[in-house]
Parts: sequence; C-alpha cells; structure tokens
Amino acid sequence: MNVKIFCDFDGTITNSDNIIAIMKKFAPSEWEAIKDDVLAERVSIQEGVGKMFSLLPISLKEEIVSFILSTSEIRTGFEQFVHYTKEKDIPLYIVSGGIDFFVEPMLDGKIDKKNLYCNGSDFLGQTIKITWPHTCDSHCENGCGCCKPSIIRNLVDDKDFIIVIGDSITDLQAAKMADCVLARDFLLQKCKELHLPHRPFETFHDVIEHINELSEVEV
Ligand SMILES: [Mg+2]
Ligand SMILES: [Zn+2]
Repeated sequence: MNVKIFCDFDGTITNSDNIIAIMKKFAPSEWEAIKDDVLAERVSIQEGVGKMFSLLPISLKEEIVSFILSTSEIRTGFEQFVHYTKEKDIPLYIVSGGIDFFVEPMLDGKIDKKNLYCNGSDFLGQTIKITWPHTCDSHCENGCGCCKPSIIRNLVDDKDFIIVIGDSITDLQAAKMADCVLARDFLLQKCKELHLPHRPFETFHDVIEHINELSEVEV
C-alpha cells in the first residue's frame, strides 16, 4: 500500500492558529470584520487573507516572525511523527493556508522545503502582499488561496491510500478526498456529521498509532 500523508499546519502542527494570533497582535480592528466575512462565506479565504495582511505595513515583518517563533507552540509528538514517516518511507506533505514568511521559520530543519505547500508573500510595497503559488485548479471554485484539493490531485494516483490530517473548515474539501482523515476540533465534528472515514487525535503520538494500525489493516 502506498500511504501518502497530507498534513495541515495552523491548529494541527501548531496548537493554535497563527494568522489569527498575528491579526490579534498587530492588525487594526478592521481585520475582525474581514474574518467574519470569511467565516460566513461572504468572501473567499483567498480574498479575506489577502485583505487582512494588506492591513499590515511591511516594516512589521521581523517583529511578526519573532512573535510567532516565540509564542507559537508545535503540537506534542510532531518531531517523532516526522521521524516515523522517514523511517517508514511514507511521503509527508505539509499543506498550509499560512504564509511562507512565518510557516518556513517554524518548520525550518524539521520538514524538507520541497514537501511544504503554503502561500507566498511580497514585501515590496507599503503593506504585506500575499502571493498565491497554489491556487485552485479547474475542479475547485472555492477561492482557497492555497488549494489543498488541487495539491492532492497533483500528487496522488488511484493506488495511493490518502491520509489527511487537519483541524478546521479549510481542511474539509481535502478531507473528502481522503481514505482516512485524522481530525481534531471542528474538522472532527464535520467528519462525524458527513460520515467520512476518520479517527480523532490530540497529539502526534496518536497520529503515529493510527497510521501504524491503518498500515497493518491495508497491507
Ligand atoms: Mg488548520
Ligand atoms: Zn480550491
């Protein structure tokens, strides 16, 4: 069996959401209305995230990176999990709606950069501009920004056993493509509601255990 793992970053690898933390700390209060529009699906994730970061001057870059590096916590067991996938030769892709300038420093030395898919950034103007190297393909009309379903379509074939690991609404379309979802928080509720094949997790030690069991069953 060819297992391939697609793992979210914010709220999955980290304990909480970094974009929300950055906005709470650095953005003027307008960011909240934009977030509410995204949650109510009045604007796409791509449009909303772009607008939120456009509220921040480029001069904040270093401060934001050190804020994230000093406050954001990596979920228990993540390093062991990465080690486990290498040992078992299981491809692990990180698919994140986060932005390169804080996702990359957080994962530096932990994850091979070529397996990391996230949004980009441009600091050439007055305010932070998000760039979108992984937008939706012709099968997706969600305006995901970083389109997880499109990335998965590109990297798998019929023989693969797809495992999606995530926590939120931004993982739902990818979760629908999975042979098994490892889910927590909101995504866990959604998996139950929609009867998607899933298992709950809290730490990456749970994740390792699940993948071990799934591999045994499927061999
Ligand atoms: Mg997440
Ligand atoms: Zn999409």
